[in-house]
Amino acid sequence: MRSSKQQDRLVFVPLGGSGEIGMNLNLYGFGPEGREQWIIVDLGVSFGDLTTPGVEVIMPDPQFIAERAKDLLGIILTHAHEDHMGALAAFWPDLRAPVYATPFTMYLVRDRLSEAGLLDEVELHEVPLGGHISLGPFEMDMVTLTHSIPEPNALLIRTPAGLILHTGDWKIDPDPLIGQATDSKTLMAAGDEGILAMVCDSTNVFTEGEAGSESGVRDELIKLVGEQKGRVAVAAFASNVARLQTAVEAAEHNDRTVCLVGRSMHRMMGAARHVGLFTNAKPFIDEEEAAALPKNEVLYLCTGSQGEPRAALSRIASGSHRFVKLGNGDSVLFSSRVIPGNEKSIFALQNALASAGVNVIGEKERHIHVSGHPCRDELRQMYAWARPKIAIPVHGERRHLIEHAKLAQELQVPHGFAPRNGDMIMLSEAGAELVDEVPAGRIYRDGSVLTPADSGALRERKKMAFGGVISLALAVDGAGRIHSGPEANLFGMAEPKEGFEKTIDALCDAAQKAVENLPKRSRGDEIATENAVRQAVRRLAPRIWGKRPHVDVIVLPL
Ligand SMILES: [Zn+2]
Ligand SMILES: [Zn+2]
Repeated sequence: MRSSKQQDRLVFVPLGGSGEIGMNLNLYGFGPEGREQWIIVDLGVSFGDLTTPGVEVIMPDPQFIAERAKDLLGIILTHAHEDHMGALAAFWPDLRAPVYATPFTMYLVRDRLSEAGLLDEVELHEVPLGGHISLGPFEMDMVTLTHSIPEPNALLIRTPAGLILHTGDWKIDPDPLIGQATDSKTLMAAGDEGILAMVCDSTNVFTEGEAGSESGVRDELIKLVGEQKGRVAVAAFASNVARLQTAVEAAEHNDRTVCLVGRSMHRMMGAARHVGLFTNAKPFIDEEEAAALPKNEVLYLCTGSQGEPRAALSRIASGSHRFVKLGNGDSVLFSSRVIPGNEKSIFALQNALASAGVNVIGEKERHIHVSGHPCRDELRQMYAWARPKIAIPVHGERRHLIEHAKLAQELQVPHGFAPRNGDMIMLSEAGAELVDEVPAGRIYRDGSVLTPADSGALRERKKMAFGGVISLALAVDGAGRIHSGPEANLFGMAEPKEGFEKTIDALCDAAQKAVENLPKRSRGDEIATENAVRQAVRRLAPRIWGKRPHVDVIVLPL
């Protein structure tokens, strides 16, 4: 007998972050099929690279949940990294749900929303560390973990269908310098209660051992700064507030005064002070004051460790920074990791510094960086605490997720599922089952316009960037006679052996012949003329340049 009332079910749907490290967007739904109530956990961005010219920010496509916005109960942000909260302001108008976060994250959320002119519209709920959130069928507790930013939270999500541990980003640091150590007691208690599924960070699944403690970095950085005679600049992620604290301590130990360089350093320091950090630090000095100090009395704390062209360190390296000048005998300490994809710009930056006589020291030379994500021993520890029935690896590329699922299997977790963005996974005592695939994709922020990644604009842009552009214009009357032109313009095309003038003549000749050779019935037809000219130029161009430029033809009818 089928019951007339449809059964409630619990589903997990990642729309971003399962297939890439970045742009996290996770949904949990509970209710009868098709009539679920939803929560969003994290709403982040990713960054463009050389393969996405002109696009700096990439976001997950929120269409699926935007269409269900009336059933969206809330948006919970686990922490303040861009890959977890960077898309909130862009998509909130389509979602219009209340936002929940702990104080440090909320400070930065307010900053962003006010930049976007949304601050007065959004219902914000600041949750204390370890606090509770109650939304429809979801009863949630924040659990404090350790990571590379203050206030990283896991979420314990209680539903009528079972308990979920959504870890967010984490590592196990027994001595994180700022904030609490990992709340293992709560995790263990949840394990005793019985965790149905753990949705967990996969970033460092290929790294054996442990990520290492911030306190180890502090000891080494104090020593390393003590060895320097000239100016010292420490390059770090501004959001890694514990690292800023480490650098401040290294400065104070060595009688140097700290000078912050870069907008995001000041922004993050504001957020840190808001939650009571850095209250005992000696006052910082500004760039102008720092320039006047003896070389061995200053420590710059800089943004731009990834070689971002507009960040402070790139401007310092190129000598174009107004106040901060580094040269012979000065040092830059890269207290950060090389994010895959950024190698070229980082090495270019380091070479520029080296040719100015600056010593460049990175994490390979000295122990001045630790990761914020769990390595294999930490993952093992988390599984031992949580003992979930189902392992759902997220926050990784495809190979990370598959490897993490394998590790969970080795650790005797009965069920596992390595998801893809858009998978709708039903979670129950029977395990994890793929029940649907929903639309998931990427949105590019192209200047100020949001556009789907597959819209074709970028494909065309790349084609023009690689091949250059030939543009031809001519005016033709109704009988197919050319009245003016053809006129050719080249954009981004190298000068061939024959020279530009002869080449342009050849292109125009080819265009003219194409018009003259049109069959009678097509003469004077705008479209047919355009096509014929384009074809002729496309045939000729590879013989001149050995490549295929983009060809643009305009026929003006008279
Ligand atoms: Zn992350
Ligand atoms: Zn993070």
